[in-house]
Formats: sequence, C-alpha cells, structure tokens
Amino acid sequence: MTKYEQAIYELIESSRSHMTAEQIYAALKQRYPTIVLATVYNNLKKLSQSSRVRKVIVEGQPDRYDRRTRHDHLICADCGALLDIDLGDLTQQFQERVPEPLLGYDLRLLYRCEACRRKRVDNPEEGERQP
Ligand SMILES: [Zn+2]
Ligand SMILES: [Zn+2]
Repeated sequence: MTKYEQAIYELIESSRSHMTAEQIYAALKQRYPTIVLATVYNNLKKLSQSSRVRKVIVEGQPDRYDRRTRHDHLICADCGALLDIDLGDLTQQFQERVPEPLLGYDLRLLYRCEACRRKRVDNPEEGERQP
C-alpha cells in the first residue's frame, strides 16, 4: 500500500462515522497538507475494489466508507443517517434458502431517527410533504 492508501485505510478502520470522500479528505489534509481530493478518490476506489474497505451506498447521498468488520446498518428513511447494528453473521440462514453459494449480503434496515421523528411531531405538515 502507498502512504496515502495506508493512511486512508487506517482512518476508515478506526472510524465509526461512515465518512464521505470529502470528510476523509478534510481529515487527512491536517496530516498531509499537500494531499488533493483526487488522490483520496483514487485510493478509495482501490481500497473498495480490493475489499479492504466497504463502500456504503445510500440513495441520493454521497458514498460513505466503512470498516470491513461484519456489521449491518440501520438507515434513517428521512435523512439517511447511518447507525451500526450487529445482527451477527446471517450467511448460513440466508444460504439455506438460496440454491447458489452466497458471496455475502448487504442488509439495510430502515427506520426513522430520533431527530427526524421529532421533526415530524413538530411539523406534521412538513413531514407529509417529505415522505
Ligand atoms: Zn433522520
Ligand atoms: Zn457501519
């Protein structure tokens, strides 16, 4: 791994905040003032293609990057906030119902986060306009 690749990998592994490329760039910029955003994007692509980091895609939002350790996500249906949830390894349970060997799975459980729930209570009309 190159210096930047290693630094990006370590940052993602130790983070629990599901950072976007821009946020990773901002964090690295403090340590490597000369780094450019394109370098971050290139390294993120390499790291996710080789499965060393996990790319989390939420519709309508920039991609986020996450550690590989097995866990699943609760996603707020309103604002897209991500919460880690440990459901254990369900591969065996899924495999029993799938005729072909499974490579993995990507579960997203939808919910509404507390801030968004409160927003709906305060502004029921606004809540309806933004389902
Ligand atoms: Zn929310
Ligand atoms: Zn996560």
